[in-house]
Amino acid sequence: MDQKKLEEQITQYPVCEYAFINPADIPFLEQVRYICRTECPQYGTSWSCPPAVGSVEECKERCLACSGGFLFTTVSEVNDAANMEETLATRLEHEEITRKIRDLFREQCRDVLVLSTESCAVCEKCAYPDAPCRFPDKMFPCVESYGILVTELAEKYDITFMNGGNVVTWFSLILYP
Ligand code: SF4
Repeated sequence: MDQKKLEEQITQYPVCEYAFINPADIPFLEQVRYICRTECPQYGTSWSCPPAVGSVEECKERCLACSGGFLFTTVSEVNDAANMEETLATRLEHEEITRKIRDLFREQCRDVLVLSTESCAVCEKCAYPDAPCRFPDKMFPCVESYGILVTELAEKYDITFMNGGNVVTWFSLILYP
């Protein structure tokens, strides 16, 4: 992976902070999966969420099979961070930037694994579980769906996860072979 080239290329996108990470540093926790199962209305409704993504152990194996990773954030200012509709609307731009950065990684290696934010919202109604995902190339499982405690990973690499009261911080993680 030509990290220097990537660092030059990503300057064209509004990435707030980033770090090249060692997949061995990713914290996988069953408790994160427990929160998905017990608190998230998206659980069991999307190919991008558990249980469709596999067990935490399977997700961990997939990540640890990669040689490196790229963790990055984008930020969006909102009028009221408690307003979920306003907050979630800012996610679309982050997903678009994630796609563009994913493409930069793909210029160097085909098989990248991309994890991003929240449940996939590409289709109005997900095909899960009756039919395969309609757009596997656009669909990114959310980081938490893999059981990853992203705040701990961010802390380890000095990436800020609280950027102010009405600032939403979105994370993506790209893993490469
Ligand atoms: S692209 Fe469509 S079918 Fe695939 S996970 Fe997203 S919403 Fe579901």
